Amino acid sequence: MTKSLFRLDYFLRHNRQSLCAYCKAPINGLFVAVGGSVYGACSMEHSDKILKGERLPRVAYANEEGVKYAVKQSKHTYVTLSKDNDSFVLHEWTQRDREKLFAEVILNFLDYANEQAKTGNLDKITKIINERSD
Ligand SMILES: [Zn+2]
Repeated sequence: MTKSLFRLDYFLRHNRQSLCAYCKAPINGLFVAVGGSVYGACSMEHSDKILKGERLPRVAYANEEGVKYAVKQSKHTYVTLSKDNDSFVLHEWTQRDREKLFAEVILNFLDYANEQAKTGNLDKITKIINERSD
């Protein structure tokens, strides 16, 4: 495999974009190469804007309720990995298992953020989360 194909293979497997570089929405399988960088795009319209260097100034942030939800939803994974590593102390785990736990927590936070973005209804989000926790 040539060096550039190896880099592309590594990127697609381990470092793929999840958000559109223009609007920060989830990507739709589109990638835009600009110079030595690869950006994700949600649509052809936005891939054109990315090529022109245009970006919306949006920034994601973590919120307290979303973090609480993510931690609660990740408990099963934490307990399973603790048993696998014979320890409840994170720094005693293998690096791979620490990364698995953090990936689980991040994905659960993104589920919360997606639900919040989709519904915009805080009471409904709380109800959905409580139902999932039962
Ligand atoms: Zn977009």
